[in-house]
Amino acid sequence: MHEMALALEIGGICERELAHAPESRLTGLGVQVGAFSGVEVDTLRFCLEVVLKERHGDVAIEIEREPGVAACLSCEVQFEVRAAPFECPDCGSVARGVTGGQSLQVSYLEVE
Ligand SMILES: [Zn+2]
Repeated sequence: MHEMALALEIGGICERELAHAPESRLTGLGVQVGAFSGVEVDTLRFCLEVVLKERHGDVAIEIEREPGVAACLSCEVQFEVRAAPFECPDCGSVARGVTGGQSLQVSYLEVE
């Protein structure tokens, strides 16, 4: 499962961040998931809960979807997109060249 591998990776990031403070416990975690990363947010949340529970107990997990950006080929307007098809808000033509929205990153950690 793709999401479990990602959750383990994020868990590793948390461990590295907390390595200098072994007494501290992770209480909150924010993750940004690109709209086109192919990640199921609900599945990722579940996997993160499983991964983090053992060492940290209950962690407040916030997963935010980051939209992608498409560029219109006709009028060169750039706009945010969350799902296909990508229609230009200005001229209505179908835009290509989606950039962004494919990443997955930790946006914040809360430690106690
Ligand atoms: Zn356009």
